[in-house]
Amino acid sequence: MNRAVVVGACAAGLAAAETLRREGYDGTLTLIGDEPHPPYDRPPLSKQLLASDWEADRLVLRAADDIAALDLDLRLGTAATGLDLAGRVVRLADGSRVPYDGLIVATGVRARRLPGGGGHVLRTLSDALALRERLGPGRHLVVVGAGFLGAEAAAVAWRLGARVTLLEPAPVPLAHAVGEEVGRMLSRAHLDRGVELRTGVTVTEVGDRAVRLADGEVVEADEVLVAVGSLPNTEWLADSGLAVGDGVVCDAYLEAAEGVYAAGDVARWHNPLFGTAMRVEHRTNAAEQGMAAARNLLRPEGRKPFAPVPYFWSDQYDMKVQAYGFLRGHDEVAVVEGDLAERRFVAAYRTGARVTGALAVGMPPKVIRLWRRSIASRASWDEVAGHRVT
Ligand SMILES: Cc1cc2nc3c(=O)[nH]c(=O)nc-3n(C[C@H](O)[C@H](O)[C@H](O)COP(=O)(O)OP(=O)(O)OC[C@H]3O[C@@H](n4cnc5c(N)ncnc54)[C@H](O)[C@@H]3O)c2cc1C
Repeated sequence: MNRAVVVGACAAGLAAAETLRREGYDGTLTLIGDEPHPPYDRPPLSKQLLASDWEADRLVLRAADDIAALDLDLRLGTAATGLDLAGRVVRLADGSRVPYDGLIVATGVRARRLPGGGGHVLRTLSDALALRERLGPGRHLVVVGAGFLGAEAAAVAWRLGARVTLLEPAPVPLAHAVGEEVGRMLSRAHLDRGVELRTGVTVTEVGDRAVRLADGEVVEADEVLVAVGSLPNTEWLADSGLAVGDGVVCDAYLEAAEGVYAAGDVARWHNPLFGTAMRVEHRTNAAEQGMAAARNLLRPEGRKPFAPVPYFWSDQYDMKVQAYGFLRGHDEVAVVEGDLAERRFVAAYRTGARVTGALAVGMPPKVIRLWRRSIASRASWDEVAGHRVT
């Protein structure tokens, strides 16, 4: 391989580029990103940056010297607009064509919007800076969607003295992901602080200063944040011949077509540890998957399936939520350590006969690591059920 191309220049794309170099690849390495900024970290956007605890320069993933040391053909501010699989060429918005022997797709996701198209979203640095400018004491922020992102933004806005209303279609926020009991516990954190949480309400239209609900009611706001999930950035791959369906479809080795791999939020791959296809939007996974894709691309003869225990965290008010595994579609949840009411607990998730996930709040890392190990070793639910305290 003499020409490697990575499309998408954030956590997954950067990790892929660094790994290629670290593993001895010394050919041309083109890194293409449509944002103007050098690679930066997204999780602080809804936490330290929104709260003004950090400024934008702290989000940069690597110092300029470290980027320079990678000897990249770096194309920032330039979108990839097409892929010719047979000819092995990536087309760019500026009209140029970049040939490759190996390609890694790491184009992430973008925020979903709602009809009307108004309000803020929170995916990029510019999104976060624009919202931050508008938050402050006495401002009324309406957040559409009480998932992890909406909850984090609500917590920060509350801390900044804003009046916050959270609108959520489900009866219990996040119940589909973490189960009803844990979802209710997370909701209480909002209610205890006087954040207004309205569940079972569907927003049908979003303007910049108001949203309309399905029953016709209009909820006025100073600012609206739409936090209703994301869409994989795969449009540029339409007609390329790559299989795309809620992300770039890959096998267990992260390969989407010969010499083409995907990594990060955009990749939908078969995770052999859970025996299912998944696409996860987690920061740690993006970097690990970028590394794994790069290694498999570079050494196809020794390639390894990518079989991680996914991990994510979320900071809301004074709580750090940490979750391991694949919680979605679980059959049962049980609080196995601590106490929900005290916001110090581990909840374990069963899918079939196995423990497939664990979510912890306020627990020491040692305890959480043990649960991670159970998930990684495919422990049966009965084996761990003995630890249950409730
Ligand atoms: C506000 C916020 C808070 C988060 N908090 C957490 C958290 O607490 N914990 C956690 O685990 N995860 C969190 N995440 C998720 C985490 O940030 C992502 O999983 C991670 O950033 C994914 O990295 P990525 O490189 O796959 O994708 P991205 O970071 O989305 O990077 C993809 C890049 O590719 C670019 N791109 C897209 N299309 C093209 C194209 N056609 N041509 C060129 N470039 C293109 C995009 O603009 C972007 O710059 C958070 C995300 C956000 C937005």
